[in-house]
Amino acid sequence: MKKIQNYINGEMIDPVSGNHLENTEPATGQVYGSIPDSDDKDLIMAVNAAENAQYDWANTSAEIRSKILENLADLIDANADELARAEAIDNGKPISLAKQVDIYRSAANIRFFAHASTQFSSESHSMENTAINFTLRDPIGIVACISPWNLPLYLFTWKIAPALAVGNVVIAKPSEVTPMTSYLFSKLCIQAGLPKGVLNIVHGTGQNIGSAMVVHPKIKAISFTGGTSTGAHIAKSTAGMFKKMSLELGGKNPTLVFADCDFEETVTEVVRAAFANQGQICLCGSRIYIERSIYEKFKQAFIKKVATIKIGDPLEQETQHGALVSEQHMQKVLSYIELAKTEGGKILTGGNQIKMNGRCANGYFVEPTVIENLDNFCRTNQEEIFGPVCTIMPFDSDEEALALANGNEYGLASSIWTNDLKRAHNLAKNIEAGIVWINCWLLRDLRTPFGGVKSSGVGREGGLEALRFFTEPKNVCIKY
Ligand code: NAD
Repeated sequence: MKKIQNYINGEMIDPVSGNHLENTEPATGQVYGSIPDSDDKDLIMAVNAAENAQYDWANTSAEIRSKILENLADLIDANADELARAEAIDNGKPISLAKQVDIYRSAANIRFFAHASTQFSSESHSMENTAINFTLRDPIGIVACISPWNLPLYLFTWKIAPALAVGNVVIAKPSEVTPMTSYLFSKLCIQAGLPKGVLNIVHGTGQNIGSAMVVHPKIKAISFTGGTSTGAHIAKSTAGMFKKMSLELGGKNPTLVFADCDFEETVTEVVRAAFANQGQICLCGSRIYIERSIYEKFKQAFIKKVATIKIGDPLEQETQHGALVSEQHMQKVLSYIELAKTEGGKILTGGNQIKMNGRCANGYFVEPTVIENLDNFCRTNQEEIFGPVCTIMPFDSDEEALALANGNEYGLASSIWTNDLKRAHNLAKNIEAGIVWINCWLLRDLRTPFGGVKSSGVGREGGLEALRFFTEPKNVCIKY
């Protein structure tokens, strides 16, 4: 049994209450460890530790902060195999994906922000012969970073790295569903020479420790990634406290396939966009709109390609489709498949839980599922399922494709598959999403702004946007 501990004031410690939660391996359904069920007593310790570290860290040079973050990135690379295995066990994702995406990008994120902070500058505005304004950008102080279970270490470091790089002290909470790699990460922080109290990692539920964190008066900013309803709850509970807030929330992303696309490549990439990480990426394209003239041809090729996805034990190298993250989540996904049937949906492939053999006999596996014949405004097409389920629908014109894509409360990402430059520009301009991919999906440049519109969130992370979020601008005006 693997026991996870909190990381507070540079030390690995148990929760004050002594209470723990169970940690389950989704591929086997077996409990394999325990997690601190932290509460406000642990938070008080974390806030005290952060407060004590705050002045020194803010006044450490950007160069030294950057060096420590680089050490951390190097340690992640050096331990990539162990971390990838831990992520695959904890989350159910294929180990090859964990290694190539989650762990690789965790190190890349940290290294990126280590470097970016040394290049970060602020503006000055001259008022001709009257005065000069310049903007100071100071760290905010104690900030909270709260992350979800789908890309555990990747999204955890995506928030922590920029916060630390510009001199904040951090209290971070990973998802209680996937706490393992953030626990291993705490040990790497000690090895990397991160001063005590600069980063404090508290484990536990959203209800207990998460909600205590967001309303703590000494925590001045919250960077949150998770579900839209949780984001709304956090926004409401902190409304009168005027905290700086970045909310990266859910998605129900459209994929627009035009008749003039590069057919084979588009089929391959649209399958990947729908089913990568078992469809549990906020950016997955789960509403697929296909120009009517190629609808039947694309549908057949798409289903054929989906059938080639290798489902298996997440710990096997060749597995492409592992387990869903928890039994509760699997039941949610299966219930949406049932809902789709009642809404008139026709299951073209998949639709069922998979009963595996051997080690994974009790795991939470669901077939990659493709559904057609649904109206754009039914619940299956409107609500986030966050699993291996996508729908396909035909359209007749660019205008209709745009209306279908925008006919949803979410607005995180989108992808457009066409060789018509003018059409691509027009759609990119008018689509209601924070991210538009043309003839690609999940191609990420770490310098670009990341985030959504409508119910997909408020604020942007990534690149300079993250460094701006984690600093407080102050204008200084000097009269000549
Ligand atoms: P969730 O909202 O249930 O939990 C996210 C985190 O918030 C967890 O650490 C959880 O413990 C914590 N939390 C829960 N209630 C809280 C509260 N009241 N106060 C403070 N913290 C609380 O989300 P999830 O199920 O872990 O993740 C899936 C969701 O995340 C999906 O909706 C997905 O689209 C979204 N997501 C969004 C992005 C993005 O960048 N926009 C990226 C990944 C995932």
